[in-house]
Order: sequence, then C-alpha cells, then structure tokens
Amino acid sequence: MIGPSRPVAAGEPVPGADTPELELRGIRHTFGEGAPDAVLVLDGIDLAVRENEFVSIIGPSGCGKSTSLFIAAGLIKPSEGEVLDHGKPVTGPDRNRGMIFQTDAVFPWLTVKGNVEFGLKRQGMPRPDRERIVADYISRVGLSGWEDRYPKELSGGMRKRVDVARVFANNPRALLLDESFGQLDSQTKERLQIELLDLWERERKTVVFVTHDLEEALFLADRVIVMSPRPGRFIREVTVPFGRPRGLLLKTEPAFQEIRREIASLIVTSIEAKLMGSPSGGQEP
Ligand code: ADP
Ligand code: MG
Repeated sequence: MIGPSRPVAAGEPVPGADTPELELRGIRHTFGEGAPDAVLVLDGIDLAVRENEFVSIIGPSGCGKSTSLFIAAGLIKPSEGEVLDHGKPVTGPDRNRGMIFQTDAVFPWLTVKGNVEFGLKRQGMPRPDRERIVADYISRVGLSGWEDRYPKELSGGMRKRVDVARVFANNPRALLLDESFGQLDSQTKERLQIELLDLWERERKTVVFVTHDLEEALFLADRVIVMSPRPGRFIREVTVPFGRPRGLLLKTEPAFQEIRREIASLIVTSIEAKLMGSPSGGQEP
C-alpha cells in the first residue's frame, strides 16, 4: 500500500492505512451524579475493531455491555474517552453504524416490506433500486411471501428477521447487535445465527455482537472479548481459531467445548472475585 504523501500529524488518521473501522478509547462512564446516585459502569474500555471483523463482547448481566454498545453507536456520550469511526470522532448516531436491539425495533404500523424499505425511502433512494434491495434482503432472511404482512402477524423470530433485513438494507459499514437473539427460543436463535453469518460472509460488514451467551459469542466471532462484572473492563481477549464458513456442528466439537470451558471458568472467577470483594475485581493476575 502506498504511504501518505504528506506528513501526518499525531492522532490524524492515515488515509487507507489500517485505521480501525471503529475504536473506543479510554471509555469511562458513570450514570447519575454525586453520591449516592453516581454509578461507575465502565472503567476504561479500549477496543479497536478492524474492517470486516466480527467481534463478540461477553460478560455478566449489568457489567456495561449495552452501555458500551450505545456509546459505540453514538447514542450515549461517554463521561470520558472517545469513539472513532475510521479515525474520526463519533458525535452521534449515523448511517455508518446500524444497531439491532434485543427487542425488535420494527414499526407495527408498517408491513414487512414497509419496515425494510423505511430507511431507503428516507434516504430518497429511487423506487426501482429500493424494490430490488428490499426484495433481496427479504428473501435472504426467508420472508418472501410475507412482504405485505404486519408485525403482529409474525412470530418473534420473523420479526427479528425483519429487523436484520432492515438494518442490512440500510447498508451500514458496521453492525452493532445487543443481545439481538436473546429472546428467541434456542432453535430459532441458531437459525438466526446461521442467517446472520451467511449475510456477513457475503457482505463482510464489521460486526460487534454483544451477548451473555458464550456459545453464541464463540460460534459467531473472530474475536471474543470478556468483560468483568461492573464496573466493566475488558479482562481477556480470545482469538477464535475456527475457520469459516461455520456450521452448527462446530458447537459439538471438542476444541469448541474446550475454549468454551476456559472462558466460562474465567467469567466465573471474575464474578467470584467480585462477590468476595476483591479489589482486583476479577483482573487477571
Ligand atoms: P449489561 O448490558 O451488561 O447488562 P448495561 O450496560 O445495561 O449492562 O448496564 C450497566 C449498569 O448501568 C447496570 O447497573 C444498569 O443498571 C446501569 N444503567 C444502565 N443504563 C442506565 C441509565 N440510563 N441510568 C442509570 N443507570 C443505568
Ligand atoms: Mg444489556
């Protein structure tokens, strides 16, 4: 790759270089003000996510997973630290980062098609392009034939598929998923995992997937980041060694189970340390 043609000042992104897609730098966050209301939720989070990388963040309930994702999305301004999108400060939500929440965010007054095309319409995309993109994503999530149905006529899994199609249709560079499959039964959840991986294999977006389900995190991601109990810190990062494409049988393989066991014991140790009141709160020795 050809280097920059002029000196680059410290902190300035180098065009085309390995600037991460998304970066969290020195994030600390406190909800509330003054004693006894102030609660330190995130205590120094640093994360650099490469373009096209699939990162999972895992940690116990209440450790600040959603807060970190909302901060990454630009929906919460952190008390300290900064979020960078390709080296540029993030000051609010924008089209580069699409978010899928735990509860589906479909509009009940719009049909499946209306929901998926909502963002494209707002962008002013011409109708023929819109129709093509919407039909493509509706088919990719297995909802062809359901275009004119309303969310109340759909199962939870189908509404979640509308959500996934809606976000992909908007073509963000990065996807932020917050326990997105957490409310689905296990079979539906596994099907959605496969569908998400299929879409991602095709489009290679950058993904940050927050979950408390370790198996899900390992199955999906290139890298799993483990958080401590609140105040959340990143205590371990695991590079997932399994190739792609991945099938559900991977979950039954001994190597998968072994890594799963290792990370589970790390999480248990960090929770126990917190319960025992250890000042290190689960930090690695
Ligand atoms: P997680 O997603 O890991 O379960 P959250 O990021 O939702 O954790 O929350 C972390 C902590 O911050 C929890 O103790 C939660 O009660 C608290 N919290 C989250 N949002 C708010 C808010 N808007 N105001 C005050 N406290 C909050
Ligand atoms: Mg959460």
